Amino acid sequence: MNPVDLARPEIRALQPYSSARMEAPSGDVWLNANESPWPPLGGGNGWNRYPDPRPAALTERLAKLYCVEPDQMLIGRGSDEGIDLLVRAFCAAGRDAILISPPTFGMYATCARVQGAAIVEAPLDAEFKLDVDAVLAATTPAVKLVFVCSPNNPAGADVPRAEILRLAAALEKRALLVVDEAYVEFSDPQGDGGSVVDCVGKFANLVVLRTLSKAWALAGVRVGSVLADARVIALLRKIMPPYPLPVPCVEAALRALSSDGERTMRERVALTRSERRRMRDELAKLGCVGEVLPSQTNFLAVRFADAGAASAALLAAGVVVRDVRRYPRLGDALRVSIGTPAENDRVLETLRCLSVASERMGLPA
Ligand SMILES: *Cc1c(COP(=O)(O)O)cnc(C)c1O
Repeated sequence: MNPVDLARPEIRALQPYSSARMEAPSGDVWLNANESPWPPLGGGNGWNRYPDPRPAALTERLAKLYCVEPDQMLIGRGSDEGIDLLVRAFCAAGRDAILISPPTFGMYATCARVQGAAIVEAPLDAEFKLDVDAVLAATTPAVKLVFVCSPNNPAGADVPRAEILRLAAALEKRALLVVDEAYVEFSDPQGDGGSVVDCVGKFANLVVLRTLSKAWALAGVRVGSVLADARVIALLRKIMPPYPLPVPCVEAALRALSSDGERTMRERVALTRSERRRMRDELAKLGCVGEVLPSQTNFLAVRFADAGAASAALLAAGVVVRDVRRYPRLGDALRVSIGTPAENDRVLETLRCLSVASERMGLPA
C-alpha cells in the first residue's frame, strides 16, 4: 500500500513552490535570487546566499547515523517541524484526526488544533504503559496519524519494540504510526525498548522522529529528522518552506556530528544514565518525595507530598523544574531534567532541607 494514499488529496495534487535556488543549474555569477552580491554584514562564509534546500553533507551524515537512505529522511527545524508537516499533510481540517496517548508531548495536540484536526485519545494505562489494543480500538477511519512518544515525555517509560511493531502492522492501510524517539539515545541498551528506525523500510506506514536537541546538546540549533518511506518524505517536502535550514545551523550540526562529537555524546549519555540512577535512588529516600517514576530519558517524573512546595523551594534555590501537574495522573508531579552532577546535587540538597523542615513541622509541639 502507498502510505501517501492516506494524505490530503489537495496536498497529493499540489504543485510545490519552486525556489530560485532549486532551479539554479550552475554558473558563477548568481543574479537569480535577488540576494546581496556582497559578503554578509557581521561575517559568515556565504551567508549572503540562500541556503541549500537539501544540504548534502548533513543529509549524508544523518542518514548514516540513523541507518536510512537519504530519500527516507527529511531534515527540519527540530522534530517539532516534522510533527507540524505530518499533521498538515495528512489531516484535513474539520474531517481528519490524530490519535494520542496522554500523558504525552503537547505538540501533537497543539499542531492538530492549529490545523483544525480532531484529537482522539487512548490514554496510557495506570503504569504509564501504552495500551496497544486500546489504541487500535480508538483508531476510527478519521484517524490518519497515531502518535507514540517512546520513551515518553513527561512520564519517562519506553514502549517495547515488539509492541510498536505490532501496532505498525495492525495500522497498515489505516493510519501512519509516528514514533517520536526524541529521548531514545538515553534508553538502556539492555532494555526491550530502543529505536525502531531499522523498521522504516519494512512498514510503509512507520514514521520515526529523531532530534539533535537532547542527547546531541543542540536544542538551540533546531535540527530534527523525519525518517519514513520515501513517498511520505517526498510528500512532506512539497509543503515544507523552501529554505528550511539556516547555513550556520547546518554548519553547527556538522561540527557536532564529527567522530569526536559522537564519542563525547556517548560519554555524556552514559553519565546521564548513571546520574539518573543516582537521582532516582536518592530522591526515593526523601520524605517529601512520594514516587520516582521509572525513566529511560534524561529526566525524572517525581511525585511529591506537596509538589507546589517542592517547586517553590527549588526555585528559591535557583533551580527551575517543569510543573507537569496539568497532565492526567501526574497531578502531584514535577519533571526534573538530569543536569550535571553538581546541578543534581543542588536539587538533592534543596529537597533534603525541605524534607527535614516538613518533618519538624509535623512533630507535635
Ligand atoms: C523535546 C522534544 C521534542 C522536540 O524536539 P525538537 O527537535 O527540539 O523540536 C520532540 N518530541 C519530544 C517528545 C520532546 O520531548
